[in-house]
Amino acid sequence: MGRLCSRSSVLSVGFCFFACLQVFFVVNAKTNLPSSPSLTPINHDLYHSSGDLKREIKTLVNRHPDKFTFETIKSGNKGYHAEVGVVTYCRRRQEIDDRSKFRILLSFGQHGRELITSEVAFRLLSILSEEKPTPNLDPATLNSTLDKIIIKVVPMENLNGRELVEAGDLCERRNGRGVDLNRNWSVDWGKKEKDYDPYEEYPGTAAFSEPETQIMRKLAISFDPHIWVNVHSGMEALFMPYDHKNTTPSGVPSSQMKLLLEELNQLHCHEHCMVGSGGGSVGYLAHGTATDYMYDIVKVPMAFTFEIYGDEAASSKDCFKMFNPTDINTFNRVLDDWSAAFFSIFKLGPQQLGGVSKGAASNLEKWVSIDEYLEGYLMERSSRYGKKREVLELGMQEIRTYFRLFWLSSVLLMFMFCSRISKSKCSRQIVSPIPL
Ligand SMILES: [Zn+2]
Repeated sequence: MGRLCSRSSVLSVGFCFFACLQVFFVVNAKTNLPSSPSLTPINHDLYHSSGDLKREIKTLVNRHPDKFTFETIKSGNKGYHAEVGVVTYCRRRQEIDDRSKFRILLSFGQHGRELITSEVAFRLLSILSEEKPTPNLDPATLNSTLDKIIIKVVPMENLNGRELVEAGDLCERRNGRGVDLNRNWSVDWGKKEKDYDPYEEYPGTAAFSEPETQIMRKLAISFDPHIWVNVHSGMEALFMPYDHKNTTPSGVPSSQMKLLLEELNQLHCHEHCMVGSGGGSVGYLAHGTATDYMYDIVKVPMAFTFEIYGDEAASSKDCFKMFNPTDINTFNRVLDDWSAAFFSIFKLGPQQLGGVSKGAASNLEKWVSIDEYLEGYLMERSSRYGKKREVLELGMQEIRTYFRLFWLSSVLLMFMFCSRISKSKCSRQIVSPIPL
């Protein structure tokens, strides 16, 4: 390196200096590595890999065909593909299409790094299969509770993001192409707060740009649940709408939601869960979230986001530790507490919503397959049931297209007009290019 520098011109000397400087920084950075805080790896003794979890869930379903069905929904665009596995539970499977039953939709693992949530999903399914004991409910209450409901569980909504985490990117929360699936829904989509960080919250190129979100929307609209729970980790909280503003909805449904959350806080969260609207309690507003969409557009009467675990003492770079329990006692405590909380929801939810009927005639029409949905059912339904926002969205798209066409034709006309003027100017004598 020295010989090269001594023969060089001034330019080369400068180049060598910067090259040497870079080598110095690289070496220095490497020697500094051991002093940076060590990051907690995934504890494979406690946590399944996503592949193992998928297999375990499928075999569990296959062992209990009288109670469970499993389907994989696939979607993709622009070379990106996603699949979402959905488990449906009905205590007597022959009643799976009974529209008088109370419907509950639960999603886990929407953010890649929150592995604990998918473990809760597996525990919940194991209890529903009766392979694991049921928490806190006597057999008679349990049977009458489970007889009334149909549950759909999405154990790993964001499989592609989860695979990135397993490959070593422990802080990744977005999907396989960098979109936060809890910012990709249409209610208040794309609005960015002052502290917006694309590494965390990139909402995608448009609402529903992501296959995972499209699948979840179709699932929610066709199933038309009475209760939706989006299960996350990072803190301990029980949230209701709204995430995009600092208020809760008004009226009876809102107070029913709050009542249920307060009971859950008392029963399963040792009274230390934050309870309230996501936007009002968490300290920041979130735009384009699933729960706000479920409440505002799908009209799910009880729409929640649960935050089931968080280690506030963990370093912000130590993501596995921050979002997931790392010792077996805490791991088991979280699984026990939260699977019990879901059984309380199964029992209390239908009781509280007793007066709210989603069944009967109107809902038979809402029970549509995904294919029907793709054929434009949503648009039809939007106008019939007054889902104004969806109609507005479709209307806005058309207005945008017309506006673009109008703008383009105006530009063309202007261009033609100007070229005619310049032709006529060219025929006159040119005096000087410099203005006086
Ligand atoms: Zn999350």
